[in-house]
Amino acid sequence: MEPEMGAWSTLEYVTISRESAASGCNFYLTSVPALLVENLPQNLKSWVGKPTKVTSEEVTGISGNGRMCLLDPRAEKELAPEDAESFDWFVFGGILGDDPPRDRTAELRKLGYEGRHLGKLQMTTDTAVRVTRMVIENQINLAGIPYADYPELKLNKNEATQMPFRYVKGEDGQPVMPEGMLELIGKDADKSFDDFF
Ligand code: SAM
Repeated sequence: MEPEMGAWSTLEYVTISRESAASGCNFYLTSVPALLVENLPQNLKSWVGKPTKVTSEEVTGISGNGRMCLLDPRAEKELAPEDAESFDWFVFGGILGDDPPRDRTAELRKLGYEGRHLGKLQMTTDTAVRVTRMVIENQINLAGIPYADYPELKLNKNEATQMPFRYVKGEDGQPVMPEGMLELIGKDADKSFDDFF
């Protein structure tokens, strides 16, 4: 995880927590600075223990001899439904997307886990977890998942912003995003507009 947990990451982790609870999976946030473990944002705190575990330990410390899969945009193989037979743990970089991506997942690649990609486009972390769940639990091929690529989000009457990520497309045709994310993006846009003057 990144050393700090900003509002954006927190909303992603709350969403991963909610979806993990619904599907009966554990969700571990590892390498979290000790001070942050004690002072988690309130909206995430309410998920701790059900199913979220937040620890300063590294992923290598908690996974024992489990069969690990690193979700890595640069992996040679794509994640496929049959991987459900091969892996017990799925590891994601707890890092925010950057545009262009800086390959910060490389830090985790050093651990030597087997890697799988989810296609060429960078996803937000909660999207990467959601897509992994659809492939592994729902047994859908990557090609069978409906995506919203680089969606334009309308923030208000006058402003829109384009997100440089791939999302899953929901039944309403809109990108699936954490609750509260649209509002947060709108606020950030206002802030940078203010900074400009
Ligand atoms: N910008 C970061 C980089 O360059 O490594 C990626 C950040 S991404 C928002 C966070 C995590 O989601 C990645 O570390 C990876 O585990 C997962 N992820 C996102 N898109 C992916 C893809 N297309 N294939 C595999 N994993 C992906």
